Amino acid sequence: MARYGQASLAVLLALAVATFLDSYGIPTAFATMLLAVVFSVWRFGIGAGLLAAILAIASIRFFFLQPLHSLDPFALPDENVRRLLLYTESILLLWLLGSALRRGQSRLERSEAYLADAQALSRTGSISFFAPDAEIFWSAETYRVFGFGKEVSPSVRRMLDRIHPEDVNTARSGFYGLAEPVQRIELEHRIVMQDASVKHLNILGKAEREKDGRLRISAAVMDITEARRTAELLRKSQAELAHVTRLTTMGELVASIAHEINQPLGAMKLHAQSGLRWLDRKPPELERAEMSLNRIIDNAVRAEGLIAKIRAMAKKQEVESVPVDLNHLVGDVMELLKGEAHERGVACQIDLEPSLGEVRGDPIQLQQIVVNFLMNGFDAMAATPREEREITIRSRNRGNEVIFDVRDAGPGIQRGAEGLLFDAFFTTKAHGMGMGLSICRSIAESHQGRIEAFNNDDRGATFRLTLPQSEISK
Ligand code: ADP
Repeated sequence: MARYGQASLAVLLALAVATFLDSYGIPTAFATMLLAVVFSVWRFGIGAGLLAAILAIASIRFFFLQPLHSLDPFALPDENVRRLLLYTESILLLWLLGSALRRGQSRLERSEAYLADAQALSRTGSISFFAPDAEIFWSAETYRVFGFGKEVSPSVRRMLDRIHPEDVNTARSGFYGLAEPVQRIELEHRIVMQDASVKHLNILGKAEREKDGRLRISAAVMDITEARRTAELLRKSQAELAHVTRLTTMGELVASIAHEINQPLGAMKLHAQSGLRWLDRKPPELERAEMSLNRIIDNAVRAEGLIAKIRAMAKKQEVESVPVDLNHLVGDVMELLKGEAHERGVACQIDLEPSLGEVRGDPIQLQQIVVNFLMNGFDAMAATPREEREITIRSRNRGNEVIFDVRDAGPGIQRGAEGLLFDAFFTTKAHGMGMGLSICRSIAESHQGRIEAFNNDDRGATFRLTLPQSEISK
């Protein structure tokens, strides 16, 4: 409403000026009224402008056309009717033009506001100018990024002054790239603010030759300080993580050495004891004692192999990859663990697919998986009545894969442990280390295979190793 009042006031003022000038014989009523209407449309909007136009027409009729002080257009002589019509037409035309301009202007203001919002949100300012010497334009965000007040007049010099001393050369050579038409340049540099704080900027620029020969340069100035800080934090925490991971790996490695060596050491002790017993017999059973000694040697060789593998792992050497017959490998392992199985009263059923496809891999590492599956099965059946302790070792072809199962008759996988079995250091055993299955998983994965564990329908659990068949045996 205030705008309508102000528009009326503008007409009133124009009327006063026109009357004043008229009294000196200067007839300016029409021109002054036009001015008042244009001013009202521009300043107070389209509606207030229309009110000003109507008031202006009425004022002209009332104060400047004979007979005066009447609004009746029919009282006018023909010539004045024509004049009034002409004035009315002109004033309304000007109001229409003014309205169109005003609409365009508000659209422009609105899109400028949107642009400013978007620039503030993305912390991206814009710069544009015609080279060599035209006025430079900075968007509001550019002022903010560079920390200049609105009173500062934009100049390339001012921007260059802010550049971090160490980045001056890079920045300059980047900007020189814009002295010629160029599709896109991108550079990053730092600027030093008045309070000595440092900002990181990313600049994207392009230069285009206009028809008149001048170069139009536009650039987007992105404040990437925050992103840089985050990246730096990320880099630091990644470095810390890498360090911790190295330490953890070392820890796991030590644990895995202990775990893997334990089994052949235990077996060696067992065979040494039985060797002694055979020798103690009267007369000594030399053949059997020799067998025990041979088993000790086998286990020592295995321990040596394990240590070599673990050392290779520590040095990140590539694992061996040769064709492996899993059935054959099971035979070797059974030979090693026969004594252990006997000792624990476990009956071993062996159900192997005769034409099992070969796999490719490292025989010692794959042997480790089989040993771990079997030893875990033995452990699981510690509380199972002796006559029910049974392990089934089964191998099968399935599609392009080889499946190897170890099935026991223990209590099955503990409730809640299902998703954790393969995690390092997860154990439910009083003296367990929780490394065996985690090592098995790493080995399986490095052979492009996988391991799974599930409970059997009747009793016990099955641990399954699946490996891709090697190309030759397909
Ligand atoms: P550890 O034998 O030192 O505990 P593993 O990684 O070999 O370490 O095994 C982790 C855990 O998986 C065991 O503590 C046990 O809870 C579970 N597990 C492994 N094998 C069996 C099995 N045959 N039956 C039931 N649970 C098993």
